[in-house]
Amino acid sequence: MKVANRFGAGHRILVTGGAGFVPSHLVDRLVERGCTVVVLDNFVTGSKDNVAHLLEKPTFALVEADISDGLPTDHPAMAERFDAILHMASPASPTDFEKLPVEILRVGSVATLALLERATADGARFLMASTSEAYGDPKEHPQRETYWGNVNPIGIRSVYDEAKRFSEAATMAYHRSRGTDTAIVRIFNTYGPRMRPDDGRAIPTFISQALRGEPITVHGTGNQTRSICYVDDLVRGILLLLDSTQTGPINCGTEHEMSMRQLAETIVSLTGSSSEVSYITRASDDPEMRRPDLTLARELLGYEPTVTPEDGLGRTIAYFRERLGY
Ligand code: NAD
Ligand code: UDP
Repeated sequence: MKVANRFGAGHRILVTGGAGFVPSHLVDRLVERGCTVVVLDNFVTGSKDNVAHLLEKPTFALVEADISDGLPTDHPAMAERFDAILHMASPASPTDFEKLPVEILRVGSVATLALLERATADGARFLMASTSEAYGDPKEHPQRETYWGNVNPIGIRSVYDEAKRFSEAATMAYHRSRGTDTAIVRIFNTYGPRMRPDDGRAIPTFISQALRGEPITVHGTGNQTRSICYVDDLVRGILLLLDSTQTGPINCGTEHEMSMRQLAETIVSLTGSSSEVSYITRASDDPEMRRPDLTLARELLGYEPTVTPEDGLGRTIAYFRERLGY
């Protein structure tokens, strides 16, 4: 299976949330291809630093705005037609679910609708960054795209899970009723350089704690699992989906499933840290296990992740060492 590039030099791409961790890597690859990329971000969880190296390029524009307030009309970069719109904006860490609940609901609802309207008017391909959280605390393992999920609609994670599920429903509704060219990717736990050390997710937290020699805060027993994906592998998968004519939803991630206890031990060992593991209270509705079934991604897109956890974590630790000065 070979997916040819649909988007390259001469194409205009809008990336919402493009100054964030995952989206900024995607933006780098699109700029390298020669696309003109417009990033729309309000820096609520992202940073201008992640795109600072692109600011002088004629094929790059940064628009500072809250996409939940509608698409800005006063910026020249927003005036021309887009060939593709990638809706990547959303706070994504479980600590954000408690700090920014209404912001998360808005960016996964009114913003999605506004972007779908624009994609439809422009005849652009619309790619929705959804999540493995759409499966909630899954009762099926590994998770296939056909699984409808197990989400607590009023729990603390619901603002994120339900907003993404709404975005998926909206995306399919525009596809079916307006003929919009759409794609949905369900992203599984991804990590790598440009994550914020204090973003609250397990990998940046454990690495920061290990480098500082602080206790590693494992929630609960640490037997809960996640399947971790290095950002380069994920970005390749998203681009394969963008370039294809597939609608999805399609899972993207890896089958490197491990318990949080194993993850903590691996990070302590790779950093050469003297940190001990400390077991603290676990939040409610925390999914017990998560691993994508990647059959569709393989068969429809030719996707294959290649980075091992040791290699990817090693590269991420090197980034954090430099950033934190350890
Ligand atoms: P991130 O927080 O680093 O990136 C999100 C970006 O969106 C940030 O730059 C933020 O400032 C911006 N943003 C948020 N609300 C906005 C708004 N209203 N207007 C404009 N900009 C806004 O997070 P990330 O981990 O890179 O996630 C990127 C996307 O991928 C998100 O949609 C997330 O839900 C999805 N995702 C990520 C993972 C993962 O493991 N990293 C897993 C599943 C899904
Ligand atoms: N976790 C942990 N310690 C932390 C942060 C997270 O043990 O300091 C656990 C969390 O309870 C969850 C897993 O690690 O079971 C993955 O959490 P993360 O926030 O990275 O991602 P998500 O829950 O969104 O999959």
